Amino acid sequence: TYVVIDNCIECKYTDCVEVCPVDCFYEGENMLVIHPDECIDCGVCEPECPADAIRPDTEPDMEKWVEFNRKYSEMW
Ligand code: SF4
Repeated sequence: TYVVIDNCIECKYTDCVEVCPVDCFYEGENMLVIHPDECIDCGVCEPECPADAIRPDTEPDMEKWVEFNRKYSEMW
């Protein structure tokens, strides 16, 4: 899965949301998040993010971000 990290805070762009083929972005408290079970790992959103906030969970130490993204995707 891909996840959104805190670089997203205060970013006003939603280019990532528009390109996602499965519509798995959700609004968190002050940033967007990706539902980790809905993301199909296509990678299309990553280069669209001007804040470099979208990362694959294969990067080191991403476990907490996966849980964060899950929590806020399911919150509302
Ligand atoms: Fe959506 Fe693909 Fe980005 Fe996952 S990697 S959030 S499916 S655009």
